[in-house]
Amino acid sequence: MTARMQVAFIAHDRKKDEMVNFVIAYEHVFRHHDLYATGTTGKRIMEQTGLTVHRFMSGPLGGDQQIGALVAENVMDLIIFLRDPLMAQPHEPDINALLRLCDVYGIPVATNVATAELLVKALERGEFAWRELVHKYKPEDWRS
Ligand code: PGA
Repeated sequence: MTARMQVAFIAHDRKKDEMVNFVIAYEHVFRHHDLYATGTTGKRIMEQTGLTVHRFMSGPLGGDQQIGALVAENVMDLIIFLRDPLMAQPHEPDINALLRLCDVYGIPVATNVATAELLVKALERGEFAWRELVHKYKPEDWRS
């Protein structure tokens, strides 16, 4: 078991049932970590599991950006973002910005449940230990 990791959940409306079922299936893993979510996703997870989730604003109202800010601060260790690929979202720029920041900082991010499952199994096996090392170095330390 590694140290507590900071895990964020975001699910678009037609993906929320899938997200809740996924979190229920891996509640035994997630309960060892600090959990965050956009507003409605977090509400659904808390209503249907015994987990406590720190809730940010709803995605369209800035929740993705709040999570993105913590990616930029090197706080988040894993993002599970079940996007709806078949429905245009009003906050598409925010979604792209969050995924871009995950790529900038090399943060594990799953955008479908198959990838999410592989990452959670890695989390369960303690394979996120490298994030503990990365935590020691903030982006500002990397500047010359
Ligand atoms: P929500 O936000 O969890 O508040 O619904 C997610 C989104 O739709 O971006």
